[in-house]
Amino acid sequence: MPEQHNKGVFSQEGYDSTVNNGAMEELERLLASSSPQGADAADTVAPELVDAAIDRARELEDSRWAVGIELLPYRLVATLIDKKGRRLLDGHRRLKDMSVSHVVAASAALAKRLVKAAGLDYLPAGHVALGLVVGGPVDSEAGVVRFYCKSPPIDRREELGFTTWHNEPLGTPLQDQTDWPVAIANDASALAVYQRWFGLGRSRSTFALLVVREGVGGAYIEDGRLSRASVEVGQVNSKDLGRPCDCGREGCIEASAGTRGILSALYDVTAHLASGGLVGAVQLAEAADGDVREKVLAAFREAGTGLAHGVGLMINMFASPLVVYLPPILSEPDSNAATEYLARMRTFTDYTHQAYSGFEVLPQPLGPYDGAHGAALIALERRLGVHPEIATDDAEAGR
Ligand SMILES: [Zn+2]
Repeated sequence: MPEQHNKGVFSQEGYDSTVNNGAMEELERLLASSSPQGADAADTVAPELVDAAIDRARELEDSRWAVGIELLPYRLVATLIDKKGRRLLDGHRRLKDMSVSHVVAASAALAKRLVKAAGLDYLPAGHVALGLVVGGPVDSEAGVVRFYCKSPPIDRREELGFTTWHNEPLGTPLQDQTDWPVAIANDASALAVYQRWFGLGRSRSTFALLVVREGVGGAYIEDGRLSRASVEVGQVNSKDLGRPCDCGREGCIEASAGTRGILSALYDVTAHLASGGLVGAVQLAEAADGDVREKVLAAFREAGTGLAHGVGLMINMFASPLVVYLPPILSEPDSNAATEYLARMRTFTDYTHQAYSGFEVLPQPLGPYDGAHGAALIALERRLGVHPEIATDDAEAGR
C-alpha cells in the first residue's frame, strides 16, 4: 500500500493533530534518518520503517512515566516506572547533608539521570511526573513537608547531628528544577498505594497499613481511596513505653518499636552491641552467651511490645485488615530475635477492642525500593491521571 508512505496519509489519519511535539519529532527523526533528503522524500522510505515509526509515535503519545524518590536519612532511593506501574530502572545516591536545598538539588539530578538513562529525556510536558516521599507528615496539596526529624545512624549522630524541618515547601523547587509536575507524599501513604496496585488492594478495597523502619507510620485505604488523614501512629504515647523519642517526648510508640528504638535499647546494654546495626543484633541473639543473648532478646521483646501497641491502635481506629511492613530480617520467624519480636507483636489483641481481634495482620518484608515505587505510583495517579483497577469487596469481607 504505497500511498501510506507520504505525510498526507498521516494527516488524514489524524497524526498531525494527535501526535504531540516530542513524539512527532521522534517520528520525523526516524523518517529523516532513513533518507538523505529527510521528510520531503518520505515516499522513498521503506514501508517497514514507516510502520515502525508510526508504531513508535503511537507508543510515545500514549506513554506515561513516573520517577519516585524516597528520602531516607542521608540517602535517596529512586525508581522509574511506566504507566502500568512496572519498575524499570533504579538509582540511589548518598546525601552529604540534609539541608532542603541539597535534598532538592540531589533529587532533581537523580530523577533526571534516570529519565535520561531510559532515553526519555526528550519527552514533552505531560508524559513524566515526579513523586517524593518522606517519613513524616506532609501537606500534599501544597507540596510542603510539615515536619521531618531524623537522626543519623546511632554511631554517627555526634558527627552529623539531627535534621529537623518545619513546613518546608519542596514541591515548587523540585518542579522548577525538573520541569515535571511533582507530588509530595508521606512514606506510609506511598506504601499503601503500592499495596493498592500490587498487594492486598488487589483483593481488598479497604485496609490499613503500618510501616516499621527508623520510625513507625500508618496509612489507610478506604474503598480504594487513600485517606488524606496523616496517620502518625508512631507518635502516639503509651505509659507502658518509656523510651525517649526524637520528637522530644517519652513513650511514643516509634521510640520503642522503630529500628532505632531497638538499637537504642541495645545501646543501653552496651554501646558495642549496637555497632553492627539491626543485622548484628539479630546475629548476636543467635550466637552470644546466655547473659548477653537474654539482654539482646529483651530489646527485641520491648520493640515487639511497642509494635503490638501500634497494631492494636490501627485496628481499633480502622477496623480493617492490616499490612505491617517490617525490616526484612524481622518479617519471618527464622531467628531467635525475629521469633520473639513477632510473638510480641501478636499480643496486639491485648490492646484491641475484643470485637476487632479477628482482623488479619499481614507482616511483609519492606524491600529497598518499595517506598520509591509507591512514590512513583502516587505521581502517576495524582499528576498524570493514571489509576489501577480497584478491588470491589466491601469492608465486611476483610474480617
Ligand atoms: Zn515522639
